[in-house]
Amino acid sequence: MLKKLFQSFRFPLRRIPPARRTPEILSSRQHSLQRNAISRNAVNVVQRLQQAGYEAYVVGGCVRDLLLDLDPKDYDVATSATPEQVRAEFRNARVIGRRFKLVHVHFGREIIEVATFRANHPEEDDEEEASHLAARNESGRILRDNVYGTLDDDAQRRDFTINALYYDPTSERILDHTHGVHDIRNRLIRLIGDPEQRYQEDPVRMLRAVRFAAKLDFEIERHSAEPIAELADLLDGIPSARLFDETLKLFLGGKAERTFELLLEYDLFAPLFPASAAALERNPEYAGTLIRNALANTDLRIQQGKPVTPAFLFAALLWPALPARVLELQDRGMPPIPAMQEAAHDIIWEQCQRTAIPKRFTIPMREIWDMQERLPRRQGRRADQLLENPRFRAGYDFLLLRESAGEKTGGLGDWWTDYQEASDSDRRSMIRNLSGKDDAAPRKRRRSGGRRRRGADAPAE
Ligand code: ATP
Ligand code: MG
Repeated sequence: MLKKLFQSFRFPLRRIPPARRTPEILSSRQHSLQRNAISRNAVNVVQRLQQAGYEAYVVGGCVRDLLLDLDPKDYDVATSATPEQVRAEFRNARVIGRRFKLVHVHFGREIIEVATFRANHPEEDDEEEASHLAARNESGRILRDNVYGTLDDDAQRRDFTINALYYDPTSERILDHTHGVHDIRNRLIRLIGDPEQRYQEDPVRMLRAVRFAAKLDFEIERHSAEPIAELADLLDGIPSARLFDETLKLFLGGKAERTFELLLEYDLFAPLFPASAAALERNPEYAGTLIRNALANTDLRIQQGKPVTPAFLFAALLWPALPARVLELQDRGMPPIPAMQEAAHDIIWEQCQRTAIPKRFTIPMREIWDMQERLPRRQGRRADQLLENPRFRAGYDFLLLRESAGEKTGGLGDWWTDYQEASDSDRRSMIRNLSGKDDAAPRKRRRSGGRRRRGADAPAE
């Protein structure tokens, strides 16, 4: 009787708590993960929580990466302690997040992210009371997700089997609830549970599948791959700010070129970049080369430890969409320069509806594009003024990118390469040698000549 009462008190709204499944346990001799390969701070967080009586593990991408001999980007910890309980254990901890409540424990520049074990969202009529903690929209997408659960619940709600491995640095054991170690060995990205349902719950998982496949050089397992193309349009319903973050992860992870091929293969590029996808269809050779070259450059720069800016990346991804738009406006009677300006504005605005590009990137994007109009005009002091422009380097790199995709610029890229390396007197003679047609007052001359320009810098389509 008392026991019954106690049970109904503990689980007032749940029917029966789900049976706990036992994970496969790998001892330190059965796996290659070394405790000293793990961030000291992550180990400290786990052990501190364990000493306070909670369950705690290092989990997710870092366990996966260490098993694959890769350097983890960051460390995540999963625990039975609630965010408030975690915060109480550390001086340097902050509770963050709305969609997922998490705790960030700060150690100088390193942040260890600590998440409480969570359960999958309960089924529709399961728990009315839980609806303020978790919610879905009509298509099954999870909107809020703060239902706490057991370790097994936590494993089952993660996306891929390879991301659901728990490492206990104290016992040096790995807990594997979903055969993640098997999939790591076989280099497979496999969703946990029913793939279609898991993509419907969170369509961003489709992008994550592609991202991990490219990053790790894994295959997407057949059943996990199958529904993607069909469900790709569900990305339309994802908030644009989240898609912007995901897009950066897709293209700034060092494997952008491969990621792009996979996005195309799974029909995921068009929902992210509709205008670029249309340009690719119209002019696959030019648009494909320009985008692929931009992504290959990005990968190379990352490999060399050089900085990469999202502004350049987005400028390149969207550039092939410009010419058609410029022509459309010109056909409606707009002069070339305003047509270019308006097309640029419209394309960026439309893209922001998909991936909310912050202003700090859209402004330099426009500057890189504007620079393409200015680079041909070099007469008098113009060339030197351009060189001093803080956006010159990006503009010049962008010009080379366009040329690499076959745009005809009359050797402009080479000219600028030489100009940057030339002595003062050589520079003066380079300017003198410019033929008048490149420079001076191009707008006037073009108009008086009655030629219709194909929109600034537009390649022949
Ligand atoms: P990386 O940090 O290298 O990109 P990661 O696997 O650590 O990869 P994060 O985005 O940092 O990825 O997420 C940490 C963990 O949280 C994942 O390993 C996964 O277990 C879980 N996770 C993240 N996003 C989702 C999601 N959309 N659905 C389910 N689980 C997720
Ligand atoms: Mg991570």
